[in-house]
Amino acid sequence: ENDAGYAFFNKVMENKLQREDLIEKEIRAAITENDTSKIYLEYQPQVDLKSNKITGFEALARMRTKKLGFVSPMEFIDVAEKKQLIVPLGNFILTQASEFIRDLTDKGFKDIKVAVNVSGIQLLRYDFTDTIMKIISDTGIEPSSLELEITESVLLGNYNMINEKLKNLRNHQIEIALDDFGTGYSSFARLIELNIDTLKIDRYFINNISIKDSGDIITGDIISMAHKLGLKVVAEGVEVPEQKNYLMGHHCDRMQGYLFSKPLSKEKALKMLFNQNK
Ligand code: C2E
Ligand code: CA
Ligand code: CA
Ligand code: CA
Repeated sequence: ENDAGYAFFNKVMENKLQREDLIEKEIRAAITENDTSKIYLEYQPQVDLKSNKITGFEALARMRTKKLGFVSPMEFIDVAEKKQLIVPLGNFILTQASEFIRDLTDKGFKDIKVAVNVSGIQLLRYDFTDTIMKIISDTGIEPSSLELEITESVLLGNYNMINEKLKNLRNHQIEIALDDFGTGYSSFARLIELNIDTLKIDRYFINNISIKDSGDIITGDIISMAHKLGLKVVAEGVEVPEQKNYLMGHHCDRMQGYLFSKPLSKEKALKMLFNQNK
């Protein structure tokens, strides 16, 4: 019995490690071959709640290979962090996003912002700001069209150092959004001195709107307190009209979610912009 249990456990572990190795190899290959068919970005619109117009996009990483099929970003970002590939992968992603911004500008969409998720490991690198500024100048984009999404977990234990870095990035006109707000340990007291521009309210709170009364109360309070601190507010995971109505009623600035659009290929994202400006 026990032996069989062990054998089974070992087999599961072996499969998991083999899959991680394979994902690692594919990430390496994508980066070294500059292969944007393996790892590429999709762009989910962010919409101004007053005008109902697209103000920007969140870039979301995608991985698809012949051997593995579709691999979720949760899984391959995790492997990249574990295998010390998140810095080169992050640069590959930042470069693709900047090239998309270049494309938008060339086509006349100058005020559209693109938000890129950055991992704490990237942000902790001493040369992070220099690397970003190099990508920005290589692609010839305005730093103000780039927004970085960070999560509160990176602040744990590194608060002062990270906050200095955020200040420096903002001095370079790069905007900072705090992602998944409400799921971690950040308090409003902390937010007062944190160098960010935007708060993204986690999907969890949006989900609770019109399902649980508590979700309603909390979400409205987060929006008004964020505004008092001079922050813009984005609601994530907006799926149904009731949520949108609630958010409009509470003066939330922007929304993002399946109600308006799923993440799109860059071609489709561009098409959507052209259509709204017709
Ligand atoms: P996230 O940054 O919180 O991204 C939002 C996730 O919610 C995305 O999942 C998006 O597709 C999904 N989503 C958008 N609208 C809706 C909606 O209305 N309903 C529901 N249920 N979901 C919605 P995705 O693309 O699978 O990404 C998952 C996570 O992977 C991201 O969460 C982020 O933490 C990470 N990730 C994705 N791309 C990158 C990247 O380029 N770099 C890093 N470091 N992490 C990334
Ligand atoms: Ca995000
Ligand atoms: Ca989020
Ligand atoms: Ca999330």
